Amino acid sequence: MRRVLVTGGAGFIGSHLMDFLLERGDYVLCLDDCSTGTLGNIAPHRKNRRFEFVSGSILQGRIVAKCVRNADLIFHFAAAVGVRHIVENPLRSIRVNVEGAANVLEKAFRYKKKIILASSSEVYGKSTNLPYREEDDRLLGPTTINRWSYAAGKAIDEHLALNYGRQGLAVVILRFFNTYGPRINEEAYGTVIAQFIRQAFLGEPLTVHGDGKQVRCFSYITDIVAGIIKASEIKAAEGEIFNLGNPNPSTIMELAESVKRVTASLSPIQQVPYRDYYGQSYEDTPVRIPDISKAKQILNFEPFVSLAEGLRRTVAWCRRNYRSSLEPEPANGRPKTPPAVLLDKLKRQGRPLS
Ligand code: UDP
Repeated sequence: MRRVLVTGGAGFIGSHLMDFLLERGDYVLCLDDCSTGTLGNIAPHRKNRRFEFVSGSILQGRIVAKCVRNADLIFHFAAAVGVRHIVENPLRSIRVNVEGAANVLEKAFRYKKKIILASSSEVYGKSTNLPYREEDDRLLGPTTINRWSYAAGKAIDEHLALNYGRQGLAVVILRFFNTYGPRINEEAYGTVIAQFIRQAFLGEPLTVHGDGKQVRCFSYITDIVAGIIKASEIKAAEGEIFNLGNPNPSTIMELAESVKRVTASLSPIQQVPYRDYYGQSYEDTPVRIPDISKAKQILNFEPFVSLAEGLRRTVAWCRRNYRSSLEPEPANGRPKTPPAVLLDKLKRQGRPLS
């Protein structure tokens, strides 16, 4: 039986990947400190005899060494993610994303274990050379802007991985583009789809940053997991970097309208300045679109799920799982708000709880 280590297995992409690996019969070892992942994401597997959970951080050398030694294949998906999270916790994020990844890669090299490294479309920074190809130049803003620390950190991880690769390690690097789907965490990462769905459920304004003309390519989780699996199986992928994403673009304003439609929410759409959300010093990527021809050619990667369909599936999951979905539909004009949701809402607005 193949033994697979998934770091960050309690996180969003990691937990979906583990579902697939367990389904196909692998033994899966999940290493996670639940800083952004949740035990809820792995709850269905806790009784599976082919599943083992190790509670620990990728910064802990001994724990990582033990996990890596016991595995045949490694998916390194543990990271501090989410732009808002990075901006608010820069030091911890840099440590986890750089030292943590260096730790996992060094152990993979030491024990000669194939590794699939999760990187990010964020490494392209704010480049306007579109669509993004793996070999393209990157364009990052100044180091005084914390947002770019994530791109810089992931780029260092890629350099490390490629150089361990040149010294004989089997390694594949994957750059993900705005992945979403069931289990997007409404609180931990603050990504835009999670945010809009929560706001739509609560009947709050959907907060579009700036003019809403910024463009992203939202990529549905099952398409991405299929690409990850192929990347781990195809020999020609070793030593290579791949964009994994759905190349269909959407502006953030269009996304807000789609979320309103799918949730049948009466929330207004409100344009807010970036600084209200991220603080004074912030820069955004205006347009982010992947060129996926390399992934198509070598991995036979093909995204199937449209944004409309992906949003329907995601909203259905969020209705069952978000605390904010507890708020009842407005009945005879006046919504009755359950106390827990109300307290949460007041806290978010920074209002006193008395
Ligand atoms: N965004 C927004 N409203 C929100 C959260 C995010 O308009 O409540 C915008 C954000 O400024 C960015 C885009 O949505 O332009 C995508 O943000 P996200 O944090 O999901 O990921 P990014 O692509 O920036 O890594």
